[in-house]
Amino acid sequence: MQKKLFIISNRLPLTVEQTENGTTIRQSSGGLISAITAYLGSGGADTFNETIWAGVTDCSEKVWNSANNLQEKMDYTYMPVFMNSKTYQSYYNGFSNSLLWPLFHYFPSFAEYNSNYFDAYINANKIFAELLAKHIKKDDVVWVHDYHLLPLAGMLRKKFPTITIGFFLHIPFPSYELFRVIPKQWQREILSGMLGADLIGFHTLDYASHFLSSVEKVYKVERDGQYLSWENRQIKADAFPISVDYQQFNDAYDEVDNSQVKNDYLELKGDKQMIFSVDRLDYTKGLQSRLKGFKKFLVQNPEYIGKVVFVLVIVPSRDSIKKYVERKRMLDEYIGSMNSTMGNINWQPIIYHYNHLSFEELVALYTVCDLALITPLRDGMNLVSKEFVASRKDKKGVLILSEMAGAARELTEALLINPNDTTEIADMIKTGLEMGVEEQEERMIAMQKRVSRYDVNSWAADFFGQLKHVKGLQLQFE
Ligand code: UDP
Repeated sequence: MQKKLFIISNRLPLTVEQTENGTTIRQSSGGLISAITAYLGSGGADTFNETIWAGVTDCSEKVWNSANNLQEKMDYTYMPVFMNSKTYQSYYNGFSNSLLWPLFHYFPSFAEYNSNYFDAYINANKIFAELLAKHIKKDDVVWVHDYHLLPLAGMLRKKFPTITIGFFLHIPFPSYELFRVIPKQWQREILSGMLGADLIGFHTLDYASHFLSSVEKVYKVERDGQYLSWENRQIKADAFPISVDYQQFNDAYDEVDNSQVKNDYLELKGDKQMIFSVDRLDYTKGLQSRLKGFKKFLVQNPEYIGKVVFVLVIVPSRDSIKKYVERKRMLDEYIGSMNSTMGNINWQPIIYHYNHLSFEELVALYTVCDLALITPLRDGMNLVSKEFVASRKDKKGVLILSEMAGAARELTEALLINPNDTTEIADMIKTGLEMGVEEQEERMIAMQKRVSRYDVNSWAADFFGQLKHVKGLQLQFE
């Protein structure tokens, strides 16, 4: 039997660029992309006859067709989804990122309820479904990703009652008390859409439980542990904590050692201690309270003035949404004011970089810093914390991590903080900077064990294993 695997995400993992030599494509980065490409690259999907990755591209159909390196050395075939920019804006910037993203990250006051956004969201999902329907055969496996595509599995299920569909949510699923603030009809379409899948994966058991109780309350169906019965199918919702390519980051320690980039950072650091953080620009990442915590630390411990530097990297993101533009302005002002009032001619407390980092720069910073300060107000998982742990082959370095990040469930040896408590952040920075090498090693070894045991390959293999199991159960009940 020739089976295909369809991976479906909002965007294809690439950026289309117009250069002197014509149109070319470049791999793009991000948590979801790194996870899936690492899995496919390791031969995880080799049992399938072909892997197809479907998603929207940032170019027109005409430009796409003229790109000259479309399928270079890929472990999968691209299937571009085209939609007009008005629909895409309302579906992506609108419903996905101005309603679902803030609400699911516990920022209900940022959520915008706009029925045009919802209509565009359903429409965009239909465009995906209709394109896929032309290619899917009944024995194929479909793996749908993330909050942009919550209704898609339900739409595909109507067209293909027996195919295997997995769905994975890369952000938190909120408690029912938050979910219920969405208009009822939207609640029903979102949940029934997700229930079109056979297996629904979340980062943590809490998120899976929130989903199951929302289904119980909205549809009055009873769950049996992690299972529930929906339209004559047994469906499972469970936790699959996404992870990183542990080996790649661990090996990278030696690869960047003695590199120009790392030496430059070491020179910048000099005899000071270095704190490091990297996040996309997002109000969920707790950048403001992180900076306030750092300021409090310097005020409470003036002996550190001139002895510590905070390298703060912010990666541009969603800059066509007002809330993100406002956030950027606030941060710029806060950092400027802190540097000008607390710094002096020879020293600035914050080195601020607003841009993307290359893999080499990222690993060099992970391995040069003394302390990684990761304080999201809410984060589905947070891969940066796992990458930091994986890249510290020297077993040194301290991780301060928000207890609101999904990763805090696994990285229990980090110094865990409440991101709203700037006094706790300030105190933990001091504890971290003064932690002895032996304690650093003890904590790092424990965290590395856990991250290496359940890395990105185990994550995907676990998901596929369970998907097969659930499908097997359904066949027994037929
Ligand atoms: N990252 C990136 N470009 C950069 C800096 C970081 O692609 O310039 C990667 C980083 O290595 C990590 C991902 O972006 O894999 C961020 O994932 P995380 O779960 O921490 O946060 P998200 O951005 O998905 O909310």
